[in-house]
Amino acid sequence: MTLLPHHYDVLILGAGPAGTAAALALHGHGLRVALVDKAHFPRDKVCGDAIPGPTLTAIRRLSESWYQELVAVQPQAPAKASRLVGPGGQELVVHWQKPTFNSPRQDFDFQLLQLVRRHTQTTILENHAVRDVRTDEQGVELVLADPTQLPLSAQLLLACDGANSVAVRKVLPRPLDRRYHCAAVRAYYTGLTGFDEHTSEFYFLRDYPAGYCWVFPVGGGVYNVGFGLLSAQVAERRVDMKQALAQLLRQHPQLVGRFAGARQLSEVTGFGLPLAGRRLPLAATRCLLAGDAASLIDPLQGHGIDKAVISGILAAEQVVRCFQSQDFSLPYLRQYEAAVQQKLGRRLQRSYRLMRLLAAWPGLLQVGFWLARLPGLQRRLVRLIG
Ligand SMILES: Cc1cc2nc3c(=O)[nH]c(=O)nc-3n(C[C@H](O)[C@H](O)[C@H](O)COP(=O)(O)OP(=O)(O)OC[C@H]3O[C@@H](n4cnc5c(N)ncnc54)[C@H](O)[C@@H]3O)c2cc1C
Repeated sequence: MTLLPHHYDVLILGAGPAGTAAALALHGHGLRVALVDKAHFPRDKVCGDAIPGPTLTAIRRLSESWYQELVAVQPQAPAKASRLVGPGGQELVVHWQKPTFNSPRQDFDFQLLQLVRRHTQTTILENHAVRDVRTDEQGVELVLADPTQLPLSAQLLLACDGANSVAVRKVLPRPLDRRYHCAAVRAYYTGLTGFDEHTSEFYFLRDYPAGYCWVFPVGGGVYNVGFGLLSAQVAERRVDMKQALAQLLRQHPQLVGRFAGARQLSEVTGFGLPLAGRRLPLAATRCLLAGDAASLIDPLQGHGIDKAVISGILAAEQVVRCFQSQDFSLPYLRQYEAAVQQKLGRRLQRSYRLMRLLAAWPGLLQVGFWLARLPGLQRRLVRLIG
């Protein structure tokens, strides 16, 4: 039997962007922190690999040198523009001002974890799958899937374990609401022609309102190609997402020729996106939720990495306040919910309303593309969709 030094001040469950950002933000406060993940890094994560600008801004606010280390991640493709193709073939090219990039999550998440490893005293426990989460007024306990390992315990838990969070199932269970959930599939390809290495492409489709297909360069001639759709539509129309993507690549007039010599580098893999847009409880007894566990993905763009990092940092700030005041009560923990609402809530709710509008009235998308041609309106529309 392996005996672990198993008691900590704070346990962070999940070492994705939310968990690693929380560990970085807890640095320097004298807390004993453990970051627990079932995977061994570098590990893959099904994603579009577009690292939204606010992710980097949030890390830069924590430390300029950590930011500099992160932007040196390889491979990566600086994202300078987005090309949006409408259902009728209309085009809109948006040039981005703020520096950002696309990078396979296998590399990006590993670099985030390396920052934690190099610059903090966090205990990193990889290959530690958590089977059960127990909380009460005294603290929290994580039961590991490996029965030979002792449970881990702490004063507080930051649940950053993603879209299929065991912590959410155990401490704040809620049924899946397909109106706030998206399904998506993706694979890596090389050998595409006619794509720019610095432009991410989005294809909006007449057959699938409020969904889109993407082709994102991730560096070294490799592209992340995927398709996402609101889960309510997937269920209603019984869409086979993998087949739908294959069909798009075979039939879309703007893709078929450019994929003619493509070589698929990975399996088509699917994963869920828990969307933001409603106010869910983000705090429970001795526990805060961040990132996908808190359902914070932007319903319009599908961006969740930035929300994960920002909410991870906000959760860490609340944890620090709890230890400073020795107040671990639920009402005090709930201050975190207010902080998330203030920082992200209004924008995410607006995105959700817009996404629903486009799902209900697909013709609006055509109007949007048409309006974007008018001088002065493009910038406003781009600001609206982010
Ligand atoms: C197909 C697809 C495309 C997407 N494209 C983009 C995009 O281009 N840009 C963007 O910003 N967002 C995108 N997203 C959303 C983005 O992937 C998530 O919002 C982001 O990964 C959330 O980070 P997180 O840290 O909350 O969770 P994750 O990144 O999911 O990390 C959770 C961690 O918890 C660990 N874990 C889970 N359960 C356990 C357990 N029981 N025990 C121990 N460890 C556990 C996992 O191993 C994992 O490392 C996409 C999502 C999908 C599915």
